[in-house]
Amino acid sequence: MTSVFDDLVGQEHIIDTLKRAVTASRTGSESQEMTHAWVFTGPPGSGRSSAAIAFAQALICPNQGCGACNECQSAASGGHSDVEIIRTEGLSIKVEEIRELLTRVAWAPSMGGWRVVVMEDADRLTESAANALLKAIEEPGTRTVWLLCAPTLHDVLPTIRSRCRHLQLRTPSIEAVKDVLINGDKISPAMADFAARVSQGHIGRAKYIATNESVRSNRKVIMQLPFQLGSLAAALQAAQTLVDIATEEANKTSEDRDEKEIERLQEAYGKGATGRGMATGAAKAVKELEKEQKSRATRMVRDSIDGALLDLATFYRDVMMAQAGVTETMINSDMRSEIETYATSFPAHTTAQKMSAILEARNHLAMNAALLVTCEALTCELARK
Ligand SMILES: [Zn+2]
Repeated sequence: MTSVFDDLVGQEHIIDTLKRAVTASRTGSESQEMTHAWVFTGPPGSGRSSAAIAFAQALICPNQGCGACNECQSAASGGHSDVEIIRTEGLSIKVEEIRELLTRVAWAPSMGGWRVVVMEDADRLTESAANALLKAIEEPGTRTVWLLCAPTLHDVLPTIRSRCRHLQLRTPSIEAVKDVLINGDKISPAMADFAARVSQGHIGRAKYIATNESVRSNRKVIMQLPFQLGSLAAALQAAQTLVDIATEEANKTSEDRDEKEIERLQEAYGKGATGRGMATGAAKAVKELEKEQKSRATRMVRDSIDGALLDLATFYRDVMMAQAGVTETMINSDMRSEIETYATSFPAHTTAQKMSAILEARNHLAMNAALLVTCEALTCELARK
């Protein structure tokens, strides 16, 4: 029989634990195998939220996670009354959002089993939000299961993580990602190989690259930047290119969605309603939504730049390996001769400096540093001879 756990690529080591928990959960009470608070950690792209959602499906499915029944499908799409999937679009999850969530999940589960909350970005909880959540997690005899996802355990407040069971996901191998692309998504072997290699086991990114021509051509532009840093002016121009490409990529995804959301909201309020109360209510809600959309767009541009920096890091990683005489495991093997030329034109010790400059820029961006200035500081560093 197929199972929702089949889709978790490279995570065999946690699937047994999850299956045992699902079996134990049928008794309806907590046990050694089944507890009501879990933390899923793993590097970006390892599929921590996919693992948490699969677990949520299995907990409410009459067949322990068949993936095919109504329960399984509505749980995954966010339409099941006993499953809440919290996706954060903004930079943080605020205490008001957690309080609202807690009122929603205060009711007993409608199907009589468990109510499951999947929180995809538990690392974005503000401290007060985390404390509000902690009270809910500590409550005894609750029918709610909390599945928190975060990059590492350190991203979760110690008081919360000490009450959770921890599952660590691994980065799937390039071969495993390639298999999924070929067999699951019917992508050609050559494209699957390229996408799996350059995305370094990040399965979502691999799919995105394999199925998106404009993303591939943007990536090409970014990978040429190291060769275009001959002068200060050129370095500043490269920084501008990075920001422009990231903004364009992010806008393309959000514009369409933003418009639809506003339309839906206006419909909910009854478009063209004339009552005074209605009109102000709708205007206020639209304003709130626009604010949210703006914060989401900011985050998407940041995420997009971060992706570009990760791509650049793979370039310097290949250069460093080439300078050490190792060329068989090149990530960007399609750029082999360019990388080898670069490797002989620059002293090896600057490659390490360039890689740490990229890491530093990513850290600054994660702490909300100004985009263009951060990219300019980086490209000037990358321009060093
Ligand atoms: Zn099912």
